[in-house]
Amino acid sequence: CENTQPTGPIDTTMCDYETVESVNGDLFSNVHELVKMPFFKYFQVDLYRECPFWDDQGSCNNPGCAITTVDESQVPLKWRAKVLSQVDGLVDDRHELPGCYYRDSDFCWLDDNTEGDYYDLTLVPERFTGYSGPEAHRIWRTIYEENCFGLSEFNIMDGAAPAPVSLPDTMTDVLRSGEGTENEQCLEKRVYYKVISGLHASISTHICAEYLNQTTGEWGPNLQCFVNRIASHPERLQYIYFNTVLMLRAVARLGPYLSAYDYCSTGTEKDDVETKEILSKVISIAQKAGQFDESALFRGENANILKEEFKVHFRNVTRIMDCVGCDKCRLWGKIQTTGIATALKVLFELDEKALNPHANANLLQRSEVVALLNTLHRFSESLEAVNKFRLIWSGMNPTE
Ligand code: FAD
Repeated sequence: CENTQPTGPIDTTMCDYETVESVNGDLFSNVHELVKMPFFKYFQVDLYRECPFWDDQGSCNNPGCAITTVDESQVPLKWRAKVLSQVDGLVDDRHELPGCYYRDSDFCWLDDNTEGDYYDLTLVPERFTGYSGPEAHRIWRTIYEENCFGLSEFNIMDGAAPAPVSLPDTMTDVLRSGEGTENEQCLEKRVYYKVISGLHASISTHICAEYLNQTTGEWGPNLQCFVNRIASHPERLQYIYFNTVLMLRAVARLGPYLSAYDYCSTGTEKDDVETKEILSKVISIAQKAGQFDESALFRGENANILKEEFKVHFRNVTRIMDCVGCDKCRLWGKIQTTGIATALKVLFELDEKALNPHANANLLQRSEVVALLNTLHRFSESLEAVNKFRLIWSGMNPTE
């Protein structure tokens, strides 16, 4: 835990740890309110699509893995799938599989909202579920294996799921190949690794912050869990900051688009006004701390090929989520990979003209906007949890 107070510039961003620290309290309290608003709390997703990579995805029988759905009638009419499908005019460059699709600019597979249930995300905290062991490790290993950039290794225009990969014997091999010597790797590959490792670290932080003591049945922070999974690997914590800056940069760039978005779900406009008020605070924090120079990536020779490869890999990560054998983990895995993919699209695919809300009102699906802000919430919440662990480590009670 002595290592958990990084200082100075955050690598490959234009921001420093101190700036993120200085805004996170404010960011968290606002984004925490935002995700409770009707627009942001209802999410429709098909959690039961077939795993495209292997047959035996296993299942978590632990009660902590279970989630309950919300009846469609509880979801404001305006945000129900049938109504939404009438306004989605972006069908031109769709590549489809049953139940899902992606467009050329997307970094993820998106649900086409023909199947799937509704979930109230405020009722499903990301925390310890008991999902672990070889099945969970296989998912992480497969995700890290996507960090293999070969430029000509496969047909990058073919969006179909790749054949099952042959896995190396140990996770360490994969991780070593991912972590590598920084200087040996191209910037894009390092960014890819940071994004994944930062997501993994954030999920671990949530698990340790709300851990179930299986002997006493009590929930609470587990310092040893945090030390083992995060604090003894300082770079993992650094990548949570990195992901936070990346998400903030996307929110800052999307500021005008998000401000012009129609959040009204009740017909009274009250939610719309309240949602926009909170959102404008989040956007102004994002403008301050979201300092990331996306133009430094994907430039020079082979830039477009590299970007297409990056997209194919990240789309695969979003499909690997269908193989997660724990409903609750799969839900948050899908939301967060969609949220990150949305941020990547905003940073690396969309120019100012495309981001113009008047010219391009249907730029993002509702699920992308919801996932983006909920993912930012998760990272910001992780940084809050890290602060609490720092206090516990120093012998103070974080609730005082
Ligand atoms: P794991 O976290 O499974 O990690 C496996 C190996 O990866 C480690 O041994 C280490 O070598 C390496 N590693 C760990 N962290 C990092 C990192 N940040 N960067 C690089 N390498 C790393 N469990 C829950 O209880 N609740 C959840 O909500 C939940 N959501 C999940 C969502 C997804 C998408 C997945 C794949 C799993 C989820 N799990 C969840 C399971 C959880 O992530 C762990 O797999 C599980 O707790 C077992 O942890 P572990 O200590 O064995 O190591």
